[in-house]
Amino acid sequence: MSREITRVGIVGLGTMGAGIAEVFARSGYDVVGLDANEAALDRGRGHVEGSTGRAVTRGKLTEDERAEIMGRIRFTTDYADLADRDLVVEAVPESLELKREIFEQLDKVVRPDAILASNTSSLSVTEIAVATARPAQVVGMHFFNPAPVLKFVEIVRTVVSSPEVVENVQAVAERLGKMPVVVGDKAGFIANALLFGYLNHAASMFETKYATREDIDAAMKLGCGLPMGPLALLDLIGLDTAYEILDTMYKQGRDRLHAPAPVLKQMVTAGMRGRKSGRGFYTYEAPNSPVVVDDALTPPPVDGADVHLRPVSLVGVVGSGTMATGIVEVFAKAGFDVRYVARSEDKVTRVRNALERSLDKAVARGKLDAADRDAALARVSGTTHLDDMADRDLVVEAVVEDLAVKTVLFEALDEICKTGAIIATTTSSLAVVDLAAATKYPADVVGLHFFNPAPVMRLVEVVSTVATADDVIATAVDVCRRLGKHPVTCSDRAGFIVNALLFPYLNDAVKMLEANYASADDIDTAMKTGCGYPMGPFELLDVVGLDVSLAIQRTLYLEFREPGFAPAPRLEHLVTAGYVGRKAGRGFRGHDS
Ligand code: NAD
Repeated sequence: MSREITRVGIVGLGTMGAGIAEVFARSGYDVVGLDANEAALDRGRGHVEGSTGRAVTRGKLTEDERAEIMGRIRFTTDYADLADRDLVVEAVPESLELKREIFEQLDKVVRPDAILASNTSSLSVTEIAVATARPAQVVGMHFFNPAPVLKFVEIVRTVVSSPEVVENVQAVAERLGKMPVVVGDKAGFIANALLFGYLNHAASMFETKYATREDIDAAMKLGCGLPMGPLALLDLIGLDTAYEILDTMYKQGRDRLHAPAPVLKQMVTAGMRGRKSGRGFYTYEAPNSPVVVDDALTPPPVDGADVHLRPVSLVGVVGSGTMATGIVEVFAKAGFDVRYVARSEDKVTRVRNALERSLDKAVARGKLDAADRDAALARVSGTTHLDDMADRDLVVEAVVEDLAVKTVLFEALDEICKTGAIIATTTSSLAVVDLAAATKYPADVVGLHFFNPAPVMRLVEVVSTVATADDVIATAVDVCRRLGKHPVTCSDRAGFIVNALLFPYLNDAVKMLEANYASADDIDTAMKTGCGYPMGPFELLDVVGLDVSLAIQRTLYLEFREPGFAPAPRLEHLVTAGYVGRKAGRGFRGHDS
């Protein structure tokens, strides 16, 4: 049975409520927006005016359409104005007490057959529902921020929600042009349960000064293609809201990964609530402004460094795989003289051919001049003798990810390389210091973690060990910039920045699947359409390889001894059964090739 829903009410016109009111008004609904007082109403109206105004400036809405949308929203502080609503969506701050009070009040004024929905991100919808005399007509309707942009909506069904009500609300979400997924009443639902562990982890990386806020954010944007870095996203969400969500999730699941990083509470106490208050991890031009301004944490300009850099013009690359070939290309294109070492003549030729193919492709796509291709190729030579690395200023090792193999290589390079040469490893999961310790000059060893495919991905993690010399780090950073890459610096810890933040999230997604809370498709949809991720976690696991993911997750678990990092049993079982992802034709999904 489907009922006609045309008149909606929104309670609380803050970050979310104002956006939700706009979404309904845009789809032709008659909207009443309620907030606690006139000042809050003005702010709410200002939000909608600002947002629709920007849409007009961008040519996405005409002035007339904007006026129509604004005309569909009435603003009030009087609950009696909600009496005739078919559906009321509540979006007041994340406090169970407050939400229960509001639902009690709504229950008294709105028609007995009307539906009440909460936009809560983490509180129990069941507990909110039982504050009313109509718990069967109460559901969660969890929009994502910014509501007018993100298509995902989680419809939360409690054990008492009536199936018709769930269906009706789902149909409403579809009419709004959203992609609803029905989920059970569990803190964080799908998207936040996966997102907030990651955001919290990023906040503690910042708190422990593992990396700068700019580097943490750049690493996740450039390394994973995310639309925003985690700290910028926390600022957008609001640190008070984020704290409450984590706190509720922690209390419900007792997962330490959800215990809010202490820095969050401190910032909220100090009034640094993110964008809405003009200060959070970053400082903004004004409250609610997206424009970041310089503050005490802003890094100094690049050329201000007074460290003496080591000269680097002759570069060596050891290895013949995809990564080594990509790195040869990157250096050659940037004007370096590159000599690579492979273990056989056959492999030397293979690298050369792969390099030529890749450069030819770049020329065909108009990304490279034929003359530049020829010049780049002329700068590259291949050899089978490691001794040929003797004159190199920098040697980048990109051989198989095996500690024993790499250690033997570092011992040999230590003998061969000239004094002052920098030796870099591209390892993604081994400790750089283990390799440094295999040499007599550990100060000259650094990690240069490129991402695949190296010619395309701009991010490089520059990893220093406790022994790496400052001028070596500075030189490595400078070389990355000369390559046109975006270097971020961090110290030698499992997973560096990107993998340490990414893989526990993927592992959590597997655990969610294991718990039968949601399907792989729904989880992928949640992260793509709710958080703007380029791929869902299961798509990504299949691409990266379940075996690789499991190895990285194990390394993280062994290094941090964090119970929440323990690899999901389902991941282990799939790897054991040979379901390692796209390369095997089967992983979380079947693949044709
Ligand atoms: P917010 O602080 O920006 O806005 C809350 C609004 O509620 C304010 O306008 C405030 O004046 C109003 N309000 C407070 N008490 C009220 C009362 N008694 N009656 C009527 N209005 C009252 O908060 P927000 O970020 O919009 O969060 C609102 C809800 O949406 C929370 O449950 C939150 O968990 C959820 N949510 C937030 C996000 C996000 O990214 N911020 C995303 C999805 C869901």
